[in-house]
Amino acid sequence: MTTAFYSPDSSTLHDMGRGHPERPERISAVHKGLEQAGLLNGLDRRQAPAVGRSALERVHDPDYVEQLFAASPASGLRQLDPDTAMNPHSLEAASDAAGAVVNAVDRVLAGDAANAFCAVRPPGHHAEYARAMGFCFFDSVAVGAAHALTRHGLERIAILDFDVHHGNGTEDVLRDEPRVLFCSSYQNPLFPYTDDEIIPGKLIKSPLRAGQGSDVFRRTIERDWLPSVSAFKPQLVLVSAGFDAHRADPLAGLELEADDFAWVTERIVELADEFCDGRIVSTLEGGYDLSALAASAAAHVGVLLKRGER
Ligand SMILES: [Zn+2]
Repeated sequence: MTTAFYSPDSSTLHDMGRGHPERPERISAVHKGLEQAGLLNGLDRRQAPAVGRSALERVHDPDYVEQLFAASPASGLRQLDPDTAMNPHSLEAASDAAGAVVNAVDRVLAGDAANAFCAVRPPGHHAEYARAMGFCFFDSVAVGAAHALTRHGLERIAILDFDVHHGNGTEDVLRDEPRVLFCSSYQNPLFPYTDDEIIPGKLIKSPLRAGQGSDVFRRTIERDWLPSVSAFKPQLVLVSAGFDAHRADPLAGLELEADDFAWVTERIVELADEFCDGRIVSTLEGGYDLSALAASAAAHVGVLLKRGER
């Protein structure tokens, strides 16, 4: 078995302008981190077709999808919100990102790969049913979940999101979907300024405060996520892998280290092994300090690969 690795070329062409933290260099940083850790050659490189409109429309308003296709500029930048803009490659990059997750779900459910990591931009977990926001256009992980429910007939999918920002988009598009358990750890107050509402067995929110680090993070995951996921018994685990809770990240104030991302990935692998033959599809979300992103992504993928090689 292997760990499938997706890194579409379009991910490095989407560019929201000089000085934007969500920049193409993030993908090269991930590659560099994987290479320096000696992981890149062990990964099973895959290509995927762009996502189809029908797959997007399982989680996004068809009118919104249409508007986004129509908004794609022939040149320059088109601003969708103060943080989120399209260049001529953004639509392709967002479609390829969601396409990678859908293909990874197919491969992993087919037993063709043990697990998968999608090194994609733009991220997705802030994209709501009918709104682009927070650097996100399509919620790739939610699209992957809806694909697994509809096309593969799964009945229980856990989405685990350790990005420092709450995955408001994923909550928005899947909160009424009883077949999905969504667990999100995040700094609050911080963008997108979510409430801390919890729906047991369905929506688990683990707010953390600025300045908190490894100890509190690990205790919180052990207290909130592990029992919830165990009770839910997922048939597939999807991960929104943001690395911006790292202490060096310029957009947030948590104090995690790369090692904490290895730790949480080990816990996720254990859960997936217990309930669903290790089936995990992980997708890059945030992470804006390039060195921290490189080290953290390598820590995360290293654990996936170790499991994939088993
Ligand atoms: Zn984030």
